[in-house]
Amino acid sequence: MPKHNLIDYMEKRDFRYTKEPQGRIKKQISEHPIFVIQKHAASHLHYDLRLQINGVLVSWAIPKGPALIESEKRLAIQTEDHPLQYANFEGTIPERNYGAGTVKIWDKGTFFNIKEKNGKPVPLEECLKQGQLEIFFEGKKMNGAYALIKTKMSGKDQWLLLKMKQ
Ligand code: MN
Repeated sequence: MPKHNLIDYMEKRDFRYTKEPQGRIKKQISEHPIFVIQKHAASHLHYDLRLQINGVLVSWAIPKGPALIESEKRLAIQTEDHPLQYANFEGTIPERNYGAGTVKIWDKGTFFNIKEKNGKPVPLEECLKQGQLEIFFEGKKMNGAYALIKTKMSGKDQWLLLKMKQ
């Protein structure tokens, strides 16, 4: 279940050592919410997808990165919400710290929620609860409609990200 708080985020990090932003929740409705995908060379290289929803960046770690080809599914593991300021973060998290390794912005832009039910838009918060997001990305690499679907079979935080057919 989405919690929308930064408690996990704050608890995992020691801000005396990491330069990651401490951040706080900004309750603001944005007409053009942002997304970022950060390439994170941690113990295992992965890509972190973050979507601005209700004042935080709701986040998923994608081991293989997003597929740029239609219908190709990629595993996405939901991780702790991050502060909005994290969308600008690039740098190296020092050894022995949570997520140690280098973070680089791979793509960044705005997105639209395109999920509809019976012709009506479904709020993002509701989509998260139901484990079914449909997002139109307006980035440089990520461009077009993607679905993020929570899997029911496996662990509770596992989702699949796939590019939808146009
Ligand atoms: Mn990461």
